[in-house]
Amino acid sequence: MLKWSIATVTMGGTLEAKLAAAARAGFRSIEIFENDLTFFSGRPRDVRTMTQDLGLEIIAFQPMRDFEAMPEPQRSRNFERARRKFDLMEELGTSLLSICSSVAEDVIDDQARVAADLGELADLAAQRGFKIGYEALAWGRYVKDWMQAWDCVRLADRPNLGIVLDSFHACVRKNPLGPIAQIPADKIALVQVADAPAIVMDPMSLSRHHRCYPGQGDFPIADYLEAALATGYRGPISLEIFNDQFRGAPATSIARDGMRSLQVVAETLEARREARGERPLALAPALPAPAKISGIEFIEFATSPQESDKLTTLLEGLGFIRVARHRTKDVELYRQNNINIVVNREQDGFSHSFYLVHGTSLCAVTLRFDDAKRALDRANALGASTYFGRVGPGEALIPAVGGVENSLIYFINDHPAGRSIWDQDFIFEPAEQKQDELQTIDHLSNVVRRSEFLSWILFYKSILGFKDEPQVELADPYGAFFSRVISSQDGSVRIPLNIAEGGSTGVSRFIDSSGGGGIQQIALSTQDIFGFVERARARGVSFLNIPDNYYDDIEARFDLPAATLEKMRELKILYDRHSGGEFFHIYTTMFEDRFFFEILERRNYDLFGAANTPIRLAAQAREQDQAMQNRILFEG
Ligand code: MG
Repeated sequence: MLKWSIATVTMGGTLEAKLAAAARAGFRSIEIFENDLTFFSGRPRDVRTMTQDLGLEIIAFQPMRDFEAMPEPQRSRNFERARRKFDLMEELGTSLLSICSSVAEDVIDDQARVAADLGELADLAAQRGFKIGYEALAWGRYVKDWMQAWDCVRLADRPNLGIVLDSFHACVRKNPLGPIAQIPADKIALVQVADAPAIVMDPMSLSRHHRCYPGQGDFPIADYLEAALATGYRGPISLEIFNDQFRGAPATSIARDGMRSLQVVAETLEARREARGERPLALAPALPAPAKISGIEFIEFATSPQESDKLTTLLEGLGFIRVARHRTKDVELYRQNNINIVVNREQDGFSHSFYLVHGTSLCAVTLRFDDAKRALDRANALGASTYFGRVGPGEALIPAVGGVENSLIYFINDHPAGRSIWDQDFIFEPAEQKQDELQTIDHLSNVVRRSEFLSWILFYKSILGFKDEPQVELADPYGAFFSRVISSQDGSVRIPLNIAEGGSTGVSRFIDSSGGGGIQQIALSTQDIFGFVERARARGVSFLNIPDNYYDDIEARFDLPAATLEKMRELKILYDRHSGGEFFHIYTTMFEDRFFFEILERRNYDLFGAANTPIRLAAQAREQDQAMQNRILFEG
């Protein structure tokens, strides 16, 4: 087992809360960031006691800035500063002081001076049994790359002086990673890992606001760690993440995510070794491999006897038929081809609690796996706990893990025995077979709180083995809208995760009216959207109004047959085209400001019609503004 560590700066809250969260997530080592100590109301030795009680080792105290290669009198003052830090370290009970390359205006551009100062400091540290680590900051004044920092450390040549390797700085500077493997292991003081998104931004701003855990960004963290471990280094690997959203989230979930991200990196590294025929490094306990997902078995709405009529009327308008009732619960199954929708009106239990918090809304999604047990074991190994609902005698026990905003993700087996839940729990009624209309659940768009966005990406990727696509940024009439599509390996389950910037955006309104995040959009596929929309309209379904201007624009952009365009304009169907494929789609009006259905027809088109999202957001904003005005008129 490697020593997995986390820097206190990664989490938000008080130092006490951070330490407790780290220990709870399974960390045994931490780095104490100087600010955390400065803001702490007790004495440094109290921190030492707290960490000891929690079973945590303080592996480093950091950072000391702008130390090396300074002219006098600053140089002497810096050595005095360092002596005081040594006193602090004594009290904390830690032995490594980390120095990051200077950004000071008057630092001298001279490698020999840097090496001399580091050497002298290392000698002072040696008298107290301490070590010094030197780290290249990507925005350092002269020392920016790990190769330069390594040159200085090598030149100083002290047994208690090593390099601090930080993946962020190396990756953002596009430093070569392979040659890291040539550094002698005993010259590496510490390895820090941080990922970041591939966005164009100055390295310092990117580092201070957008660092994230391995797997949440785009940097080659596995390559980096592979090179660092190839040296033979087996010291601590520490997460050092500066991210405003991390500090805004509960420390417990951030610490748990950190451990989860490291477990998955370790899994990747071991898999690479196995592929090369090398023996495992036993970096972390092995994880059960992700199970294969083959689709969504059902989605479940939490509602109440008072509100459920409106929901079932909408479902029937969309062509769903009630085919079964639950044996013991106030639960019904609506079905259409491969789509199962469960409507739960129970007055207690999970669904009812969910309804009380969020109103009529989607409370659960059930995924089909080739091995649901293994999928659950993996989830548990990665820190997600299992939920078992209340079941009656002889009813199926379906395990679940917690999803966005305490919704549930049920796990079932994708074989006849696993899917006997319907026969076991439901009494089917003879239902007339309607003409084929909607075929499958195409995707489910999930709104998440901004502070939880990266956390859910990590959840789906690590626990469920999903893959992700690059983030898309779009305009909302009241702000900005960001979307990242994550999907199961076979593409059968696709979930755009959406966040927004701006208080009145569609996403923010959803969060306000739903008591948090959740599934806002349920996209269902058809093979004949024109026929379907005509029939659904005749059955009373109301669709989002799209302005005429949109169709004038479509007419100018695409050479669509006049009759098709006219029909789209009449029915309010939207259109997109990509690589020869065509996409037709339409949205129902909002259900209580909370969710809506999208009906779509794909013709060799595999995207999500993102070009039309601003049109949809503007039309929904207009609809909501209108509803608000009507309420004011009515009430006023
Ligand atoms: Mg660092």
